[in-house]
Amino acid sequence: MSTHVIQRMSTLLAKTLREDPADAETLSHKLLVRAGYVRRSSAGVWIWLPLGRKVLENVSRVVREEMDAIGAQEVLLPALLPREPYEVSGRWDEYGDLLFRLRDRKGADYLLGPTHEEIFTQVVKDQCTSYKDLPVMLYQIQTKYRDEARPRSGVLRGREFQMKDSYSFDVSDEGLEHSYALHRAAYQRIFTRLGLDHRIVSAVSGAMGGSASEEFLAPAAAGEDTFASCAACGYAANTEAVTYPPAPVAAEAAGPVEELDTPDTPTIETLAAHLGVPASATLKNLLVKVDGEIVAVGVPGDREVDLGKLGEHLAPAVVELVTAEDFVDRPDLVRGYVGPQGLDKVRYLADPRVAPGTAWVTGANRPDTHARNVVCGRDFEVDRYLDVVVVEPGDPCPECGAGLSLDRAIEVGHIFQLGRKYADAFGLDVLGREGKPVRVTMGSYGIGVSRVVAALAEQTADGRGLCWPASVAPADVHVVAAGKAVPLALAEQAATALAEAGLRVLLDDRAGLSPGVKLTDAELIGVPWILVAGRRASEGVLELQDRATGTREELPLTEALSRLT
Ligand code: ATP
Ligand code: MG
Ligand code: MG
Ligand code: MG
Repeated sequence: MSTHVIQRMSTLLAKTLREDPADAETLSHKLLVRAGYVRRSSAGVWIWLPLGRKVLENVSRVVREEMDAIGAQEVLLPALLPREPYEVSGRWDEYGDLLFRLRDRKGADYLLGPTHEEIFTQVVKDQCTSYKDLPVMLYQIQTKYRDEARPRSGVLRGREFQMKDSYSFDVSDEGLEHSYALHRAAYQRIFTRLGLDHRIVSAVSGAMGGSASEEFLAPAAAGEDTFASCAACGYAANTEAVTYPPAPVAAEAAGPVEELDTPDTPTIETLAAHLGVPASATLKNLLVKVDGEIVAVGVPGDREVDLGKLGEHLAPAVVELVTAEDFVDRPDLVRGYVGPQGLDKVRYLADPRVAPGTAWVTGANRPDTHARNVVCGRDFEVDRYLDVVVVEPGDPCPECGAGLSLDRAIEVGHIFQLGRKYADAFGLDVLGREGKPVRVTMGSYGIGVSRVVAALAEQTADGRGLCWPASVAPADVHVVAAGKAVPLALAEQAATALAEAGLRVLLDDRAGLSPGVKLTDAELIGVPWILVAGRRASEGVLELQDRATGTREELPLTEALSRLT
């Protein structure tokens, strides 16, 4: 084993803070800033200081090793990309405000890559011509850019962030399934090695397009996703992806809903007048039927009926387009609305306990806009549908009927069987075994490398600070000189011996700080082992603390060495 350089706190660029940063909402945000791992540059854009950089690198190394192990080849594509391929795929428009767009001196449009399906498809089209060149799996670890609407949780949701993205290219559906399975297994090994508690759940594909997809979620209170799981049968899905088999429309709704007969050939205005409310009102405690069919259900304290969304069932009134921005933080209006990412239409399923699995309240979305009072098919073409069910704890499991549990989690990885969407757009064919061109089928697989750092912090931190799993910690052991002269000399001796034994050592050799301050900093920084030379240094005795359990024990250096190596 090679000797590592000792990192000295006296020179390390890592200033610890006693106070939480004012704008920090999540634990990882507070602690990573306070412990000197990251600093904010601008909203959602982060500076990685030496300790943070080391953790990021350790996560990347594990990811790299496991990607290499399944035969994926590492490449590095540009982050600065021309508009054209994103026009070909349709995502120049579909991505909406999420895309960072820029222009060069000649007036040509560019973007900063949010994900790279288009460019990888072009690379393979350029490099692979025969079925013999496939399958191929390519990956990169690279900076991604997304102009997130609310980049608030530190590195959990950056506007600039590190992603490992990989792509598989196969000639057959079975090949794609195999590549997908390889990635799925590699991801399980990665998150296990990283010490991250994680679940694999069914997911919707969102802006990537394509069919089968699963997410890797790290349970944590700070997570922005919610997943439903069933203890009885093992079912697990992002609540966005929970679907129930369609049930017949119930004649009557039960529960605290009041029925109302609408006038003949109602318009929004006549309905509103009948109810004595403005045409723009949203109403609770209301069931709307048109020609005997339930078209909307409002529930006290939960779902409201937005009269504006009844357009499909009413004579054309005003067709009004409002932008997606108007729906941010309005879950009352947009339950099921999934963001300005190219979803064309969302159907709102009424609470199954009000009218079991039945009534559909229909809103119509298209990229960047939510269209009110429009009729899909009449006012614009619809080519994709997404069904969204609002799930609550105790709702029936779609597979076995037992009660579902709901938990918050952080999306750390996402794997997709894309199919031929991008190959079709770019005409990606290879010459098949029979001498005829064969259309290639693709998978796409992402891990939020920088987000994983924050997810690990969220899951492992305690009241004293960060507490890294050994696989990602910025050092193996944090040696503290709790005093000058004899304690400092023993700490230096211990640090040298540990480094020579192949351990990564962080040495607190700072002068003029009390042992208490140094220990508080060591606990905040969260290296797995803390070795203190202090009170009994003159006898050659050190104190070894296990950061995670808090267990302390006094021992001589030789014993500490054999314990740690
Ligand atoms: P989210 O739902 O959190 O916005 P996403 O579904 O848009 O994420 P993907 O397109 O699936 O993200 O990208 C792959 C991975 O990249 C995600 O699973 C996540 O770990 C990571 N990621 C996505 N957006 C961000 C971000 N803004 N900051 C940090 N990591 C991110
Ligand atoms: Mg996103
Ligand atoms: Mg997501
Ligand atoms: Mg995703």
